[in-house]
Amino acid sequence: MTNYPTDLKFYINGHWRSGDGRAVHRIINPATGEKLAELPLANAADLDEALLSAARGFEIWRATDVNERAAKLHKVADLIRQRADAIAPWLTMEQGKPLAEAKGEVLSCAATFDYFAEEAKRSYGRILVRPTGQRSLVLKQPIGPVAAFSPWNFPVSLMSKKMAAALAAGCSIIAKPPEETPACTIAIMQCVVDAGIPADAAQLVFGVPDMVSRHLIASPIIRKISFTGSVPVGKHLLKLCADGVKRTTMELGGHAPVIVFEDCNLEKTLDLAAATKYRNAGQICISPTRFYVQQGIYEAFTKGFAERVSKIKVGNGLDIDSAMGPLANDRRTPAIEALVEDARAKGAKVLAGGARGGGAGNFYQPTVLSDVPASADVMDNEPFGPVALIRPFATFDEAIEQANRLPFGLAGYAFTENGRQANRIADALEVGMVGLNNFAISAPDAPFGGVKESGFGSEGGPEGLDSYLVTKAVHQY
Ligand code: NAD
Repeated sequence: MTNYPTDLKFYINGHWRSGDGRAVHRIINPATGEKLAELPLANAADLDEALLSAARGFEIWRATDVNERAAKLHKVADLIRQRADAIAPWLTMEQGKPLAEAKGEVLSCAATFDYFAEEAKRSYGRILVRPTGQRSLVLKQPIGPVAAFSPWNFPVSLMSKKMAAALAAGCSIIAKPPEETPACTIAIMQCVVDAGIPADAAQLVFGVPDMVSRHLIASPIIRKISFTGSVPVGKHLLKLCADGVKRTTMELGGHAPVIVFEDCNLEKTLDLAAATKYRNAGQICISPTRFYVQQGIYEAFTKGFAERVSKIKVGNGLDIDSAMGPLANDRRTPAIEALVEDARAKGAKVLAGGARGGGAGNFYQPTVLSDVPASADVMDNEPFGPVALIRPFATFDEAIEQANRLPFGLAGYAFTENGRQANRIADALEVGMVGLNNFAISAPDAPFGGVKESGFGSEGGPEGLDSYLVTKAVHQY
């Protein structure tokens, strides 16, 4: 079950490619530090070939009957479900997350392809009211070939969101998933190929990220960029896109606040918070991170949270007992260590964890910091790791002021049994997504995206399809 594929390849112009003197990237298992395989990286000639192929693919795919497009996207979903048990261990081996989470992520890709297979049929325009004999139409058309860059924390689901929506809209797509976690994305691409999506319509490349993005964005063939990743890289890509006035969707970082009011269901809130914070070792852009807890329940909350977190079993994600795996790469461990040490030095209390785990892998213990001073770096910078920060608050206005103080605005959460207070907080949080009394805010039919420096545009829902469509007004007399 766990045999990792060593013949990694990328897919352009209808062919799987490797070798031929191309540079390679070493794939490392983050739980063990062992080398798994070498990944071939596309060169400039490969990218030029992919661009010409994408231009052809757009003409072929946009002209394909929408029912046929939908049927092929459903077929991709079926194949993903059939192969999920084989793909999930590869995801765990190259990314680190526990096997159950990996399987859930793979199955979520099938749900995404199914959703967009249906949504493909709903690229509706409208007819404007005009005097008899005149007609004005508003049409929606696919924007053109897309370049999509997705990160290593959810390698298959984030690539699938972009690919399914672009293909549903009638666009062709060149996907560049992360180089750290290729086998699972190659397996999803194989499902796309086997489902009969035309070779030119969907391609998969790996490479040096800066080289690939500069090359693709500079091409007049590419009409839309979709990126999920860090705020600095998003800003860099936006500047590159400005030259060609390219349409973009930017899903960037967050630093999600969680406002816990005294009237919440405390036990339920603690259970949900401790289970959700350490999913994927906290490497989630919507991970609950800044817990603002009302004074009356502050002691009970911090005690109950630390008790639950200290029981989380950390280990290799392939081990059925592991509730949390390693961090995905060796950049993350020193980054988390530095943020925790800075907070500790400035007066934060370490209630759980606070140190690396053992072994050769990139392990860091599930960590809870309370009374974290506002001056700690981690209060301003997304830790993107297994670290929860807890601070007390007194009033509703104070909680909102703290929650909204950062330049990011992706997700925000609140726990209260008072419906009026829930409405007020949902209105006041400066974020793109709000979870009230729960953390489940991602679904194929729901828009997913942020405000402020967390980016713009949505993935998922009708908004996700719309982001690959352009609007054309036709006025007929
Ligand atoms: P990074 O900023 O170097 O890279 C983030 C992602 O962007 C990676 O997937 C990377 O391959 C890609 N990337 C980097 N430079 C690129 C370029 N020039 N063109 C195209 N793609 C490029 O950092 P990292 O070490 O990989 O991750 C660290 C930080 O990134 C985290 O702390 C987190 O804040 C953020 N991140 C966010 C998400 C998300 O879901 N929003 C996912 C992964 C990482």
